[in-house]
Amino acid sequence: MDAVLRLELPTPYPVGTVNAWWLDGPEPVLIDTGVPTRANLEILEAALAVHGRSLGDVRRILLTHDHADHAGAASAVARRSGAPVHMHARGRLGPRWKPEEIQALARFLLRCGMPADVLAGAGEALRRDARYADADPVVPEPLWGGEILDSPLGPLTVLATPGHSHDHLSYLAIDAGLLFCGDTLLPYITPNPILHLDPDAGFRRVPSLLQHLESLRTLAALPVRRAHPGHGPDLLDVAGRVAHDLAFVQARQGVFLAAIRRGADTPWSLAQAVFGDQDPTGRFLAVSETVAYLDLLERDAGLDVRWEADPIRVGRT
Ligand SMILES: [Zn+2]
Ligand SMILES: [Zn+2]
Repeated sequence: MDAVLRLELPTPYPVGTVNAWWLDGPEPVLIDTGVPTRANLEILEAALAVHGRSLGDVRRILLTHDHADHAGAASAVARRSGAPVHMHARGRLGPRWKPEEIQALARFLLRCGMPADVLAGAGEALRRDARYADADPVVPEPLWGGEILDSPLGPLTVLATPGHSHDHLSYLAIDAGLLFCGDTLLPYITPNPILHLDPDAGFRRVPSLLQHLESLRTLAALPVRRAHPGHGPDLLDVAGRVAHDLAFVQARQGVFLAAIRRGADTPWSLAQAVFGDQDPTGRFLAVSETVAYLDLLERDAGLDVRWEADPIRVGRT
């Protein structure tokens, strides 16, 4: 068996499958876990059994971030193995949204100009998504980034790479030149920096795209020969993929500016102009991404955003 085994697991999401990574040795490490379903655990066990391994052998569970396709099965694997779960201190096992967080999010989306009936549909979609939350979470061990953990690949450096999610971590096996980058860098898609209102800071919005761009620059500078992403095949040219994503963001800024010139003046109307109509989840993601770009356009393109207005107003200075 290779030192790193890719476990490709099905998810109920449009992204398709998710990758979990088994680092083999006397003290095996599992990075990410798939969704919290019985079927997922059976697939994991079957894939490991081929190599004479089982989930009971895991000595440490590491999570890149708390989205259900990555973190969902962490508690179940922890119970099966007795292994601790490590994740970012701000990440969360169990339900993604607390009631007060849903309220804060709803208020913010209405201020983005999202119509109330569209908001109701998006809320329903997010609630449906909640059935993939871990129903019985264990207490994870917190990481912040900067820690160095033991692993079968030698020292594993924990890197804070927020943006796609506020709690995103990547793991660098420096001796092997390998990077586990979760959803920060993906082979076929440019990750969506998802809207996050920080419950520890009065639900202040996190500038997710600005954070994501910083994280990409961090990854591009690392001495790695191969990156293992959260979805899809390995990346052999990390700096090249980062350059691709930076160019994508640059081009999309131009699309937003053109829509603003044509008259879109709230985050919702801008999202409609750029992404067109979407299903309920897609409408949330479109506004989420639009808001993330407003930070960048405000910083780099002289856009005037009146964040305190209701609805939030976007215009040229
Ligand atoms: Zn994710
Ligand atoms: Zn993912």
